[in-house]
Amino acid sequence: MAFDPVFSTLPDTIFDVMSGLARTHGAINLGQGFPDGQGPEALRRAAGRALMEGSNQYPPMRGLPALRAAVADHYARHQGLSLTPDDVLVTSGATEALAAAFLALLAPGNEVIVLDPAYDAYRPLIARAGGVARAVALSPPHWRLDAGVIAAAVTPRTRAIVFNDPLNPVGRAFDAGEVAALAQLCRAHDLIAICDEVWEHIVFDGRTHHPLMAEPGMAERCVKIGSAGKIFSMTGWKVGFVMAAPALMGPIVRAHQFLTFTTPPHLQAAVAEGLGWPDAWFADMRAGFAASRDRMATGLEAAGFAVLASEGTYFLCIDLAASGVSLDPMDFCRRAVTAFGVAAIPLAPFYADTGAAPPIIRLCFAKADATIDAGVERLAEARRVLAAR
Ligand code: PMP
Repeated sequence: MAFDPVFSTLPDTIFDVMSGLARTHGAINLGQGFPDGQGPEALRRAAGRALMEGSNQYPPMRGLPALRAAVADHYARHQGLSLTPDDVLVTSGATEALAAAFLALLAPGNEVIVLDPAYDAYRPLIARAGGVARAVALSPPHWRLDAGVIAAAVTPRTRAIVFNDPLNPVGRAFDAGEVAALAQLCRAHDLIAICDEVWEHIVFDGRTHHPLMAEPGMAERCVKIGSAGKIFSMTGWKVGFVMAAPALMGPIVRAHQFLTFTTPPHLQAAVAEGLGWPDAWFADMRAGFAASRDRMATGLEAAGFAVLASEGTYFLCIDLAASGVSLDPMDFCRRAVTAFGVAAIPLAPFYADTGAAPPIIRLCFAKADATIDAGVERLAEARRVLAAR
């Protein structure tokens, strides 16, 4: 029997593979991007209250009114966007939002520009929606967005670009100039932008997030996607949001109604509460992750690793080759988790052409200090032993 050629031939995601190996080998997991902690207690209590005292039946298909209003207010306050609750759809995580957007907006043969390294869900979802992903690689160590290079990949069939800002896996937060240039390109070539901004709140060193949607003429072209899992450090919650103007939102809502239809109401109620928390909460959250980033980077540098700048997300990258390790990054990661007790992620699965991936690995620093220190120590040992090979 023949199955769909996209999903039947896909390997398990690298995150699942590495987390599985970490469990089997009792390793410290710096691979998959989830924090050590359980997230803000106040939000968990709010969800618990809503579970016990609120409705446990289907909430409205587009999301709880309180959450849709809270999302619109939140982005007005933090990013200056003018959205109404009608411009907001609640989804079961950003992953469902991405799937709904691709299914709804792509016609067979439409091309979609994907900037590599790219989150691994995009390509299979685009392909299964009938689209054709066109990779444009960004270059380490600065991963700058070059509108000229992107424009060269545009064809008459190009319908959309996926813009993940800040960029997982490399922790790049694009600056105002890069975002403005991308907006100009979208307007010039009549492109839709699927803006995966799940890391929007996790930017460091005084940076501010620049939503593409805020650029002139872009409110009509952008599908902005957020995730409460990232905002509140609770990746298991899978509460996402889509923001889009009515022409784009209409088909996305139709796709969503047959993907998941709704998202657990008690989680929605709690997220609505959290989005209204004072600015200081968000600043403290960012400062905590920035301190973890600095701790990990300092430890790794002291151990002889070449650490790339991390401007946002939970991640920083190491250039293995520049760290004196000539082993293929996938081999290094396998050895690190099985023999040295620490899991990391190679960049290759984030590339269309895995062979063209740079010799870089990704580490998650959203961990307790003791976890970071022990992970760094194990990586240092792995480097000492494996650098010679
Ligand atoms: N996009 C990016 C860039 C991500 O890093 C993640 C989570 N790692 C997602 C989407 C998925 O988010 P969610 O868990 O809300 O589905």
